[in-house]
Amino acid sequence: MNPIDRRQFLRSASLAAGGLVTAASRWPILAQSAGDRPPRSPETAVLNPRGRVPVSLIIDDSTCLVNMAHFAIPQFAEVFPDRYRQDWRRMPREIPDAFVRRFGEWSRTQGVKGKYSMVPYPSCVGWLDRDLPGWSRRELIQSLDLVRSLLASHWDFHPEMISHTWVINTRTGRPYEERTDRFMENWRWTDGKSADELADYLAYALRILERAGIPCEGITTPGGFGNRVLPELAQATLESCRAVFRAEIPHYFRHVFTDNQSVAPRVEYASGLDSSDPRCVVSIVGCTGDWFGGWDGLEIGSADQFLASDAQRGRMADVIRRGEPAIMVCHWPGLYCHGAETGFHILQEVVRRMEPLSSGVLWMKLSEIARYWTARELTRIQWQGRQLRLRAPFACPGFTVRVKAASLAPPAIQTDGALSPMRQVQRIRDLAPGTWLAEEDATILCFDLPKGPSAVVFPA
Ligand SMILES: [Zn+2]
Repeated sequence: MNPIDRRQFLRSASLAAGGLVTAASRWPILAQSAGDRPPRSPETAVLNPRGRVPVSLIIDDSTCLVNMAHFAIPQFAEVFPDRYRQDWRRMPREIPDAFVRRFGEWSRTQGVKGKYSMVPYPSCVGWLDRDLPGWSRRELIQSLDLVRSLLASHWDFHPEMISHTWVINTRTGRPYEERTDRFMENWRWTDGKSADELADYLAYALRILERAGIPCEGITTPGGFGNRVLPELAQATLESCRAVFRAEIPHYFRHVFTDNQSVAPRVEYASGLDSSDPRCVVSIVGCTGDWFGGWDGLEIGSADQFLASDAQRGRMADVIRRGEPAIMVCHWPGLYCHGAETGFHILQEVVRRMEPLSSGVLWMKLSEIARYWTARELTRIQWQGRQLRLRAPFACPGFTVRVKAASLAPPAIQTDGALSPMRQVQRIRDLAPGTWLAEEDATILCFDLPKGPSAVVFPA
């Protein structure tokens, strides 16, 4: 919940997990295993989709109607009375659907995409698949309908575990009796849990959303959930999203880095790349703090922290310049700000300031970024006799590759034996599926990558 907790926990977890590293791991500090990687010709490099830097927005602590901050603070304060002293009674209990509608319509108009949490049993108030005490059944159904119909095109849905407060006993559906941080989702409950135990918990959360008609391909961890069991968390995400939703490429949001380390997605536990059942899970990394309205709508930030008015400075400019996905992080109560919508206004200003960068960035949902990174890392790419031969465990739209070979005539995509010539463009910004761009000693190709074998043929 609190992004600062997220980072602090991560640092100690990283140290604690250091001993679990395997030789194959690319990220010794984080301990998760990367798994298999295919062979690849050195003449080839996968670029960003259509040569643009992905940008996205992570929204945490959203759900239907319930203002998570109002209901969660007294529960957090029971465990940490000194840390949660906000006057929650003065916060509205509801974040209304009228705000969801305005936000959703704005995001569609602007092309803003990302992830929207749907906490399934928000602060133990009620169940999204049954009843939400405090609201009528009809209001709950209308709220779910609004989320499904308005947000699904631009937003992935994630459970942010079950309640985001007290841990639920999945055998009884009730919170445990013990009232300590060992039984809060945000804190210590996951310590020492196995991948199977975590998968059981994640699957319970996912099934509530499945029954509520909310499709999911990934999960968001509430607060410090999973921090000391990072390998198990990754594997549990892989298993539970596949089991409940048959998600092809499960992904999760656990990490936020606001320093110099890489914020590129991490494709983990890849296996069976040449089989009919390839598997992997993708860790999506946020690159900003919540500099909108904070997790409770009380810590107001500023647009400058994301992007200065010249679009040259600020965290987003830095990460975009690096060419890594620039994924902002916010909380739903911090966009709403108790009705003042201050956080939403900051977001609108950031998106306005991004306008000069628009030809170099691409808004994507987290699931789209996960798919692209999976194709980027797991597709076998070989340059043989003026043919680019690919074998993809997963299909990927807008796949973009640079080949160190000049092409004078249009390359052609080979599918099912038929050749379709590609169209030449003169600028990177014009790359789209089915186009190519000539560089001095290289060729950039952009095409929809099919699952399985395919090829791009360069005429002699
Ligand atoms: Zn949260």
